[in-house]
Amino acid sequence: MGSVHWLQQAKAGVQKISPYQIGTPIETVKRELGLTSVIKLASNENALGCSPAVLQAFTTSLKNTQELHRYPDGAGYSLRNALAKFWNKSSDEIILGNGSNDVIDLIARCFAGPNDEVIISEYAFPIYALVAKSVGATIIKTPAQEYGHDVVAMLQAITEKTKVIYIANPNNPTGTWLPKNILREFLSQVPKHIVVVVDEAYSEYMLHPNFPHTISWIQEFPNLIVTRTFSKAYGMASFRFGYSVSHSDIASILNRVRQPFNINGLALSLAEVALSDQGFVQQSCEYNKTGLQQLRDGLNQLKIKFIDTEANFLCMLMNKSSEVIYQELLRYGIIVRPLHMPGLEHAIRITVGKSDENQQCLEALSKII
Ligand SMILES: *Cc1c(COP(=O)(O)O)cnc(C)c1O
Repeated sequence: MGSVHWLQQAKAGVQKISPYQIGTPIETVKRELGLTSVIKLASNENALGCSPAVLQAFTTSLKNTQELHRYPDGAGYSLRNALAKFWNKSSDEIILGNGSNDVIDLIARCFAGPNDEVIISEYAFPIYALVAKSVGATIIKTPAQEYGHDVVAMLQAITEKTKVIYIANPNNPTGTWLPKNILREFLSQVPKHIVVVVDEAYSEYMLHPNFPHTISWIQEFPNLIVTRTFSKAYGMASFRFGYSVSHSDIASILNRVRQPFNINGLALSLAEVALSDQGFVQQSCEYNKTGLQQLRDGLNQLKIKFIDTEANFLCMLMNKSSEVIYQELLRYGIIVRPLHMPGLEHAIRITVGKSDENQQCLEALSKII
């Protein structure tokens, strides 16, 4: 049998996907460079870890092992009720995901297919293009404006084929964000049958009074789906938990395609504990604010340009190849994220870490540049 060219067997959209590059794991760097101490500032994880209440509940859960062979509550009854109460929403407006990326994927699978168009911005979170391609939809990418989403261009890109518009607010990797008035005006102009996804993965960090927390806008804009995650400010990336809030009619559609047991039992119970510890979230945001300022000050001193933000990461604009700087920082035991996006080849994303980690990163940068 001749060897099969499997890529040619894949769906046309899938052939177009360039695989998502994950942040380099700490163990990989230790192993490959023979280092014992490595700092990871590459995946926007919470510098403070997760809530002590979550750690406590996790430890306790290790003693309650009698029910591990049973399927978890696929409807996530208790957690959805807790989230509904938290947001003053109804639980039928909430869809749980194995990370918010899972919900972002569900939305594409429910609403877009071949012959449909999905609008995203240049420099937007790469997962949107990935999920749109995987369902065979056509991606309409509008040029960025000062590295952020140009909502006027996005409005102009709407055609009768448009099904879904994805907006990351703030955006990763650029950290740019749309203020209340601009996002509201945009939503009011989008035809009501087009789904608009506002991905608020970093919204907890956004303390600016003009930042829109749009879950409260869903009644006004029933075509809006807001996604949230516990991977960032809640510090629970490894448990994989995120969710969406939308009109219940949209939620019930997402629920048709959602795998019945997409959230594991541990994540279901620990996310509820995390939600109840808002003190930790607040503490994380305050800690981030200080760390972000430390990085801003340090980068200004080094005359390294960056895109300003309030999120827990900064996008640095270097004057040489980001891949080279990434490799040099690795030798100092510091993992950052070189961006390989067209137009951002000289950009490096760095996560706000603990103060000593930020300091070490700034020192290494000063030696490299
Ligand atoms: C990290 C991130 C997410 C969250 O992904 P999870 O699947 O919830 O871990 C979603 N959107 C953006 C823009 C992100 O940066």
